[in-house]
Amino acid sequence: MPKSIHKYTNGEVTIVWKPDVCIHSTLCWKGLKEVFNPKLRPWIEPAGSTTEKIIEQISKCPSGALTYYMNNDEMPEQ
Ligand code: SF4
Repeated sequence: MPKSIHKYTNGEVTIVWKPDVCIHSTLCWKGLKEVFNPKLRPWIEPAGSTTEKIIEQISKCPSGALTYYMNNDEMPEQ
């Protein structure tokens, strides 16, 4: 079980970040730096891009450290 879970939302989608699970592949911030920028605090800026692009990028995370759910879903984190 991950020790900590952080959530960031743009109102439509919620990005779920589990730092303990991250394997630092760098895919997220190399792929979508407008949203995932390790130089910023917090490092995830959900308003930085479209929901579609955020979901596309999260789907490429190889470790499962990044997941998401739509805010209108009844069952989170599918
Ligand atoms: S893509 Fe996933 S595993 Fe890679 S740095 Fe981002 S959160 Fe970590």
